[in-house]
Amino acid sequence: MVKETQKTTFEQNMEAMTKLSPREMEAKVAELTKMCICGGCPTYSGTGEKRLLFCATGKSKIIKKEKGCLCPGCPVQKKLALRWDYYCLKGSGKEQAGI
Ligand code: SF4
Ligand code: SF4
Repeated sequence: MVKETQKTTFEQNMEAMTKLSPREMEAKVAELTKMCICGGCPTYSGTGEKRLLFCATGKSKIIKKEKGCLCPGCPVQKKLALRWDYYCLKGSGKEQAGI
């Protein structure tokens, strides 16, 4: 019988990432930053914010107002099994997961 494959959770992905070396982690962050679509988001546009990847790095100090969030359609959201939104305002995936 074929064993049912279970989806990897965000928490499991974060656990796996703790095993990366600093160099591997840096490469991973660079890869994910390239995939981040915050730049095209109405909440981001026109604020002067330059940072990206809030799901990993946490809240923006500049963005203050919700005007829509593209995160649910972002490839990083899917890749890491993130399940939240407005990371720029609410905090990173880890913060929103309480881990
Ligand atoms: S999930 Fe949101 S914050 Fe994270 S990389 Fe995608 S667009 Fe950026
Ligand atoms: S985290 Fe969501 S709301 Fe914030 S800038 Fe990125 S896509 Fe927009």
